[in-house]
Amino acid sequence: MFINTHTHRQIYDAKIELVNYSTQTVEEKPRLYSFGLHPWFIEKDSLHRQLDQVKFNLLDKRCLALGECGLDKLSKVDFELQTEAFIEQIKIANEFKKPLIIHCVKAFNELINCLNDADNQMPVIIHGFNNNENIARVMVNQGFYFSFGKALLGYESNAAKALKNVGRKNFFLETDDADLSIKYVYKKAAELLGVDEEIIIQQLQSNFERVFNYKLD
Ligand SMILES: [Zn+2]
Repeated sequence: MFINTHTHRQIYDAKIELVNYSTQTVEEKPRLYSFGLHPWFIEKDSLHRQLDQVKFNLLDKRCLALGECGLDKLSKVDFELQTEAFIEQIKIANEFKKPLIIHCVKAFNELINCLNDADNQMPVIIHGFNNNENIARVMVNQGFYFSFGKALLGYESNAAKALKNVGRKNFFLETDDADLSIKYVYKKAAELLGVDEEIIIQQLQSNFERVFNYKLD
């Protein structure tokens, strides 16, 4: 039973596909999804309406997480506005008791500050993680979770190194927007950890149930 924790398309090659739902890319509501305000798409004049849309979706039982949301120093959106939108979303996630799926580019310190400022109590999943060991260590110490994707397949990538250090209870696998089967990502993760694929399958099922508060049948 494969679980794809973060994808932008429902392609039915995993038992669970948590689709990052957005009306721009997915026409029909997926079976299970996450919904959030991405730091590329924040609009100053309609921020309140955009945040209302986040709340509206979190009321749906099929919506298991708030995300992707976060901070991106390469985004054209003003960083202060990103910070404001992110803090609001942390508060919403805590109000609705949903984990956060995080998009973070070159702003890990700021990310931690926002989570502390908003007194976050919900699980934090850093998606598409491919950063260096120092950042990985800080994130582990914060108790964050990691979702690894395409970068694992690269030769000696940061993601591959991080996977070996974060601990089996703290990670997930994803395809994000890559044209890739989650099965390859599982295969590679098992290879990197030097364990049988079945062990990864079992571990990620239990991680998913615990962090997303979702009972798998
Ligand atoms: Zn994504």
